[in-house]
Order: sequence, then structure tokens, then C-alpha cells
Amino acid sequence: MKRRNTQPKKEILSALKSAHSALSHEMIQSEMKDQMDRATIYRVLNRFCEDGLVHRIVGDDGKQYFALCLQCEEKKHHHNHFHFRCLDCGTVECLDKEIQISLPAGYVPEHFNGLITGHCRRCS
Ligand SMILES: [Zn+2]
Ligand SMILES: [Zn+2]
Ligand SMILES: [Zn+2]
Repeated sequence: MKRRNTQPKKEILSALKSAHSALSHEMIQSEMKDQMDRATIYRVLNRFCEDGLVHRIVGDDGKQYFALCLQCEEKKHHHNHFHFRCLDCGTVECLDKEIQISLPAGYVPEHFNGLITGHCRRCS
């Protein structure tokens, strides 16, 4: 019996919540047991980004990952943390530590995009 996806938003959000790390489209698709089509996943994730529920991380591997936001508002993301991609297990996660950015005079920061690759706590 094929289950109908009546609540893709709810299911994607709960997948992101239980993952404790960022997820790519492929990861979400396999979480959904391939019962949700790519277009739906893209649409829901883009919506979440606009709503300030989720932020997008562009990995050095060229893939996009999505992680939950903790205190963002609609259309207004404010993040100053690094993201870490593990070269061993492939996990992408948000690092809690806030970063103090110091820029030359006259520069006004609005978006911060920092990614570190290496070996995560579990793999190192
Ligand atoms: Zn955010
Ligand atoms: Zn790892
Ligand atoms: Zn993050």
C-alpha cells in the first residue's frame, strides 16, 4: 500500500529535527523512503528558508545542506557560526560557538558563510 504524503512540511521538519545535523536533498529523500518527490522537497525547503526555520549551507562538495534555525525570524537569518563537514562520515553540522567577525572599517557584514572541513568529534 502506498502511503499518501499529505503533510510533507511536517515530515521534513521532523526529519531535520531528529537528525541533529544538516541534511541534503538526497538525505531527506531517503529519509522519506522515496515517497516524496524531489520537487516537493525543494519547494518545502525553500519555503522553510524564507520562513526562517531552516538555513542553507553550501558545502565544499558543491551540495546544499539544510539545518534548523534556532532563533531566526521570517526572511531574516542571523547566523555567525561555522559549519563543519566531516571528511570521514560526511556529516555537516552547525558549530555552536559564535564567531566575532572583525572587518576593515567601512564594511558592513550581512551574511556569513563559513565552512570548515576536517574530522568530526566522532571520527577524529
Ligand atoms: Zn536562520
Ligand atoms: Zn565524522
Ligand atoms: Zn548552521
